Amino acid sequence: MPDAHAKLSASGSKKWLNCPGSVKLEAEFPDTVSQYATEGTTAHALGEAKLNLALKAISRVGYHKRTAELNITEDMDEYTNDYRDFVLERFSEALRNTKDAVIAIERRLDFSAYVPNGFGTGDAVIISTGAIEIIDLKYGKGVPVSAINNSQLRLYALGALDYYDYLYDIKTVTMTIYQPRIDNISSETISVNELYEWGRKAKEKAELADNADNLECIAGKHCDDGFCKARPICRAYAEQKQKLAVYDFKPPEKLSVGEIVEIIDQADDLCKWAKLVKDYALDQAINNDVKFPGFKLVEGRSNRTYTNEEAIAKKLIKNGYSETDIYTKRLKGITDMTSLLGKKRFDQLLGEFIIKPHGAPTLVSVEDKREEINSVQKANKDFKEFIEK
Ligand code: SF4
Repeated sequence: MPDAHAKLSASGSKKWLNCPGSVKLEAEFPDTVSQYATEGTTAHALGEAKLNLALKAISRVGYHKRTAELNITEDMDEYTNDYRDFVLERFSEALRNTKDAVIAIERRLDFSAYVPNGFGTGDAVIISTGAIEIIDLKYGKGVPVSAINNSQLRLYALGALDYYDYLYDIKTVTMTIYQPRIDNISSETISVNELYEWGRKAKEKAELADNADNLECIAGKHCDDGFCKARPICRAYAEQKQKLAVYDFKPPEKLSVGEIVEIIDQADDLCKWAKLVKDYALDQAINNDVKFPGFKLVEGRSNRTYTNEEAIAKKLIKNGYSETDIYTKRLKGITDMTSLLGKKRFDQLLGEFIIKPHGAPTLVSVEDKREEINSVQKANKDFKEFIEK
């Protein structure tokens, strides 16, 4: 569950563990709740209610009371069923090993022994002999979230150990991400000693980040991975992005393969950073009347648009045009159709009609999971349509 309101939140820990200055710099930006965060909160509430119903912790009436006000889509209903089944399966496995294993749903986890005022919520916490598993539901579908060395889950695990260790003599901790919308399940098991060792280091960094006078900003992967709000104004981030400027004065034909690699490695990042800064500047110009020398605020270009489609259709039909002349009939796109039918029904009814065409060839980092197109002939054959354009 989100814990966004804590100063040193577990969800933001990747940032403050790597960049102590981010806490102060981000505080200059207001908290905003995106549509995705609202959707995630709803999915968590629904998943929680479904698990509590399945575990007989609430009655069916209680379940309906808790879910009546939620804005549930058909997709969400299916994905949270998958989440419930996954958690129950993990719990059944724990019961097979330990007959008095226990499960806690939406358990508040206090890790303030490591992080000032640190707390979060474990979506599902399963305790069996010598072992604890924390399952975290991620409802996003942007990027797969890994449980490996995941600081948010490790902080939750420290909170869970604080709560359960004296009762159960825990030896290992498993942290699992369940991300149903992109079929991502990621898990890491570490010993309690390893976790405590990590916690000691995290505690030192948390104390540093909690110091309001400390403004050391250290840029890295965590800036983008953690969606740092300070990116448009952060000097450390800007300096990291501007490393590319050293190539400005060299004509392209003189670039070596090594230099080209360095540029393409950073090109996407550079474009994203430029957009962040532009969006920030626009927001400042519109909302705070900030002037940027050499720039002015104007109306953007726009296209003509109908004011009243119903009235237009009536008028055209009155003037002798038929419905087929004036309307274009189109099938809903795959995303809208999936929302209409629900994922399972969509696959049952339409699976045979769906193909995934080749995407245009693109250069990506070797860490990308996609298979390499490893021969010129194969690339030419498979991607003929793109190459001839
Ligand atoms: S953009 Fe990066 S370097 Fe700058 S404050 Fe945020 S996390 Fe730190």
